[in-house]
Amino acid sequence: MATPGGPRQGSFPPNYNPNALANNMENLQINQYSQQQSGNLAGSAYRPPNATPFGQQPPRFSGGRPGPAPPGVFSSGQAPPTGPAQTTFSQSPMSARPTGSPGVPQPAFASRPPPPGALPSSIGGPATSAPSGLGPRPGPFPSPPLASRPALPPHMVTSGPASNGPPAFTPGLSQGGPQHPPAMGGMPRPLVGSQQPPTMLPSGPSSQTFQMRPSFGAPTSGVSSAIGQPAPPFPAPPQSMIPPPSSLPFSAPPQSMIPPPGSLPFAAPQGMIQSSGSPYGMQTWPPQPQQPATSDYIVKDTGNCSPRYMRSTINQIPCTVDLLSTSAMQLALLVQPLALPHPSEEAIQVVDFGENGPVRCSRCKGYINPFMKFIDQGRRFICNFCGFTDETPRDYHCNLGPDGRRRDADERPELCRGTVDFVASKEYMVRDPMPAVFFFLIDVSMNAIQTGATAAACSAINQVIADLPEGPRTMVGIATFDSTIHFYNLKRALQQPLMLIVPDVQDVYTPLHSDVIVPLSECRQHLEILLDSIPTMFQNNRTADSAFGAAIKAAFLAMKNTGGKLLVFQSVLPSIGMGSLATREAEGRTNVSAGEKEPHKLLQPADKSLKTMAIEFAEYQVSVDLFITTQTYVDITSLSVVPRTTGGQVYYYHPFSALSDPAKLYNDLRWNITRPQGFEAVMRVRCSQGIQVQEYSGNFCKRIPTDVDLPAIDCDKAIMVTLKHDDKLQEGSECAFQCALLYTTVYGQRRIRVSTLSLPCTSILSNLFRSADLDAQFSCILKQVANEIPSAPLSQVRDQATNVCVNILYSYRKFCATVSSAGQLILPEALKLLPLYILALVKSSGLRSDGRIDDRSFWINYVSPLPTPLVIPLVYPRMIAIHDLDEKESDDSIIPTPIPLSGQNVVDEGVYLLENGEECLIYAGDSVQPNILQKLFGISSVAEIPNQFVLQQQDNSLSKKVNAIVNEIRRQRCSYLRLRLCRKGDPSGAAFFSYMVEDRIGSGPTYVEYLIHIHRQIQIKMP
Ligand SMILES: [Zn+2]
Repeated sequence: MATPGGPRQGSFPPNYNPNALANNMENLQINQYSQQQSGNLAGSAYRPPNATPFGQQPPRFSGGRPGPAPPGVFSSGQAPPTGPAQTTFSQSPMSARPTGSPGVPQPAFASRPPPPGALPSSIGGPATSAPSGLGPRPGPFPSPPLASRPALPPHMVTSGPASNGPPAFTPGLSQGGPQHPPAMGGMPRPLVGSQQPPTMLPSGPSSQTFQMRPSFGAPTSGVSSAIGQPAPPFPAPPQSMIPPPSSLPFSAPPQSMIPPPGSLPFAAPQGMIQSSGSPYGMQTWPPQPQQPATSDYIVKDTGNCSPRYMRSTINQIPCTVDLLSTSAMQLALLVQPLALPHPSEEAIQVVDFGENGPVRCSRCKGYINPFMKFIDQGRRFICNFCGFTDETPRDYHCNLGPDGRRRDADERPELCRGTVDFVASKEYMVRDPMPAVFFFLIDVSMNAIQTGATAAACSAINQVIADLPEGPRTMVGIATFDSTIHFYNLKRALQQPLMLIVPDVQDVYTPLHSDVIVPLSECRQHLEILLDSIPTMFQNNRTADSAFGAAIKAAFLAMKNTGGKLLVFQSVLPSIGMGSLATREAEGRTNVSAGEKEPHKLLQPADKSLKTMAIEFAEYQVSVDLFITTQTYVDITSLSVVPRTTGGQVYYYHPFSALSDPAKLYNDLRWNITRPQGFEAVMRVRCSQGIQVQEYSGNFCKRIPTDVDLPAIDCDKAIMVTLKHDDKLQEGSECAFQCALLYTTVYGQRRIRVSTLSLPCTSILSNLFRSADLDAQFSCILKQVANEIPSAPLSQVRDQATNVCVNILYSYRKFCATVSSAGQLILPEALKLLPLYILALVKSSGLRSDGRIDDRSFWINYVSPLPTPLVIPLVYPRMIAIHDLDEKESDDSIIPTPIPLSGQNVVDEGVYLLENGEECLIYAGDSVQPNILQKLFGISSVAEIPNQFVLQQQDNSLSKKVNAIVNEIRRQRCSYLRLRLCRKGDPSGAAFFSYMVEDRIGSGPTYVEYLIHIHRQIQIKMP
């Protein structure tokens, strides 16, 4: 094996740069004296996190995974993982799976079979196989596809960064809260989902068809889209057509031209290995097979980083700003530096360059990567970002082979992998890596006590203590609060933990600095006793006030020396002391309808006090997660400023149910502390000359323009990076992007996670459309829309979203479409689902004016760090029928084929499950057979459906199947979705039908009407 990066000698220019990440650490003022330092740091052996958001023993990776193995799953004992990327798979696993009607390959509407020869063999997908539509595109399709060959061993490199390896799992943990749902098998994502063919195809016409899905009764008449016609100004990319509005009688649309409402999402499946390219210009640019973020794919990293870590909205970079604006598309990167890899993927390798740190460009400080070109017999190298030629450090020298590559390139991860972890040298530290500090802050005001929220929080914390990393570096603290703040001395061996009250909530302080945060090993027992007794201690509490602001400030003061995670359990509106928000509650009730005409003022924080506090927290590396367990308005807008600024997140349990929510609270908390994550992080994205970063968007604190500060970052957090041109790019050249994240692992190691992506530049508009990435594009639109909501009237935001879609399609229609018929709506193949998702977005709870303010505010916060694989499910949830599971032939998939989101697919005799990654609704129609209700829920009529609901496994196959489905969804989503049982005629039923985004909802159009609207807008713009 390679011995990458031996220490280089001091005679070479140090890689340390005043502008580099390391130096910025000084700005963060983390150079504080730390009380728990070196002595504790060394040699603490932590066991791997038992990370899973679901309570129970999961199958271990592919071997025990339910259903067949994921696509291209590597079975052990075969080709080594360092083998060449050219892995060909004989069959697309997904396409092998029956969908829709079992056994009948379902034609996909508008699915685009890649043209023969268009795809590199490394893609592995059956480029020429018939597209087998999976039914609705947006529903994720979870059945793990077949194993493919050649297989590679799961290469679990032991030196892989502990913070990002796939979590290990522990047996059942469903104890605790009352009547937990059956505990869930757990395993890190793969997010399994809808499949699409790779959309980046070489230029030139490609044939494609779109067809009706048989399940909707339409004939499978393919209509080829105008291929081979004389080329308009630009070569024609694949496209889809919708006929003119005049030909669209709603009652009976011409079947061969437009699918009936409810049947429009469609996708061809595939499972494939992404070969992400070969460096050194061996190929001018590596073909980038695109993989939908929601699909189950495995990446073989051969130079370009996996789209899990960095995904571009367009996979070719426009040479000029004019070309980009003509396309009307946004150029942006979605980065998720610590994303969970697929269990079958090779672990990210750790590279140690010794005391000098990784080799970097001495001008722009870009990190060594596979696209830096070595010349002059390896004595010099050219930076792929700034073009500067550097001397190769003497210790790093290696001769070039006949192919122009370094002879050791395949041995060195930093020269052949798109993502590596560099060990950070001393230069990257201004203090020793911080310990893992967890501080729990619990609301014990009257409301929290009486609703059971305090008990649920204490129980959840008590259970997850066992999952905290072992060792002296793990520190914990605990405090409770109502109108005052109560710390607990956990150190002294007292019979009962000693309570220390801080009464002043205007000017807070922390008592007994050193004893409120102590090593876990010294206080485990005390902690358990304390958590057991808190609900009883406060059971008669009549204090309704909450000093939230003062409490987090006091906790922060206790953590200031170390930094760490502050986990706050909050149940009521903060009403007293600093950061109090009491005055807005009344407005929150009355000001709901103003959203149409002006920006809603309740979507802007009440004042700057919490923001100011949050910025200070971030400076000292304190990250705040907020668990809101409430029955009322709590002003999430104002509260959420703290998690958003400090790299944390908001969890929202409304209305809190003491029956059904403790299980979710526990699972959320457990995943929060055990998932792969990093502390005291700084991130920067570098681009090749000609492109620069315009803006970062996500949950972080930004103190200087080039970097974002992340007191905490975890595998579920994504950051959007919008880009802009500052110069022209050369056709035929490549444009590179590099995301560098300097962070501390929970094991106390300082690392730099570097992901590099190199994309071809193009001056051809149709290439942009052809290489557009739908998930990334929509992710970008969603996040921008969410950022707009607080400052613009809702109606304007909705129009903006539609206009984005119209402008893109107009550009395509005007400059690229091959069909001259003005009467047709023509969609670029890669973006054919964009109108559907925009429509779903316009109807989502974030953009509806009838929703509660806190719900909308939560939605905005949820979107902010949302990783790309969860973006589409949020607006276009997955719906499946569960009443007839027993009648269906079982294939290998646990989760049945999703149904398009239209009420016409929901029958009164049916029971349906709908999930969006955050919540899960189970809807029972009016006429469901009593025996089905009995089997599923133990009730005999729909009238008995309870308000609070816990899904329990009954002793029958139907119930077992439904439980297995729910478990599988939770596993895929890495989220313990909230379950609600819904029925017609009450608010729960209305909530369910509000997701039927293809129907008319309120004044919102149907899908077909919306397409017609889009089409008309385009026609109006046409010259
Ligand atoms: Zn450079």
